[in-house]
Amino acid sequence: MKTILITGGAGFLGSTLSKRLISEGHKVICVDNLSTGFIKNIQNLIDNPNFEFILHDVVTPLDIEVDEIYNLACPASPDKYQADPIKTMKTSVFGALNMLELAKKYDAKILQASTSEVYGDPKVSPQPENYFGNVNINGIRSCYDEGKRCAETLFSDYNRQFSTKIKIMRIFNTYGPGMDMHDGRVVSNFIVQALQNDPITIYGQGSQTRSFCYVNDNIEGMMRLMNSGDHLTSPVNIGNPVEFTMLELAEIILKLTGSKSQLIHMDLPQDDPMQRKPNISLAKQELSWEPKISLENGLLETINYFENVLSQNVMANQR
Ligand code: NAD
Ligand code: UDP
Repeated sequence: MKTILITGGAGFLGSTLSKRLISEGHKVICVDNLSTGFIKNIQNLIDNPNFEFILHDVVTPLDIEVDEIYNLACPASPDKYQADPIKTMKTSVFGALNMLELAKKYDAKILQASTSEVYGDPKVSPQPENYFGNVNINGIRSCYDEGKRCAETLFSDYNRQFSTKIKIMRIFNTYGPGMDMHDGRVVSNFIVQALQNDPITIYGQGSQTRSFCYVNDNIEGMMRLMNSGDHLTSPVNIGNPVEFTMLELAEIILKLTGSKSQLIHMDLPQDDPMQRKPNISLAKQELSWEPKISLENGLLETINYFENVLSQNVMANQR
């Protein structure tokens, strides 16, 4: 039994990871400032004696003795991380520093939730880990992209300077049950719009691509990376290499929901990457990991989840 700290543990990925680690018999300490996460995500863990929730902002140092740290604290949706860009940068950089100091003090292993955003608007596809990326330093996404790049640098330097045991996971677009319906990401937007027969909001022409990974595949990859040998300190891509345009995603969701929604086009946000597709050779080789859930099957689970959320909201409004 390990004592495991999860920052951002009340968020989409953090709460799913918390449940998995508790089910495997570990003690989980969840640290979160509840800026984009919710207590309802961890409600069924609160009474578990192996689970502890601490309301805390990672920008401020923390001192608890733990064996492992998953550093997930940071808003992931562009709408949310752009709402307070300076806070996003502080969360990424000071949050990483504070957690690395904790890891150093207690000789804990630490995993950073990095992102495919470190590749910016990539000029090579698929993106391997040794691609340095094409990131705008001053754009509206930079607070997140550059914050996460800086965090990776800090992780690598703590490893070189203090032999801190680090893991860097570059996460590509991940979706599934537990996502916040209001967070503005494409999968939640399209499904919620389709279920309500509202217009599907395609930004730009919809020819930009993303590669969507189901949440359980992501969490499996995350835990395998954490449990990998100490030699593996370089970044590892974790994502589903099957690439779709946003128009294709909309069509699949319309088909699976049987929705009557129309497609409408809206402005493409500034610096929106045109393509995203991971090269996962390293994860296959080092972690024997590859995604198992197809987009259709993952979307069916997610549609089912949002149907329940919407019907609970209707019932709550009727009370
Ligand atoms: P999320 O927004 O659902 O969860 C983030 C959590 O961090 C929330 O609970 C939020 O309240 C908390 N948080 C934010 N700032 C904090 C702070 N200063 N102090 C303490 N807690 C703070 O997002 P998610 O999808 O669960 O993403 C988790 C991590 O994975 C993030 O670091 C994100 O950058 C990374 N990531 C996610 C994706 C994805 O597709 N979901 C892709 C790439 C990277
Ligand atoms: N997008 C869209 N309609 C929406 C939300 C997003 O067309 O309602 C597009 C967005 O412009 C981007 C892609 O979907 O090209 C993925 O957006 P998301 O915010 O989910 O994640 P990103 O990969 O941009 O961080």
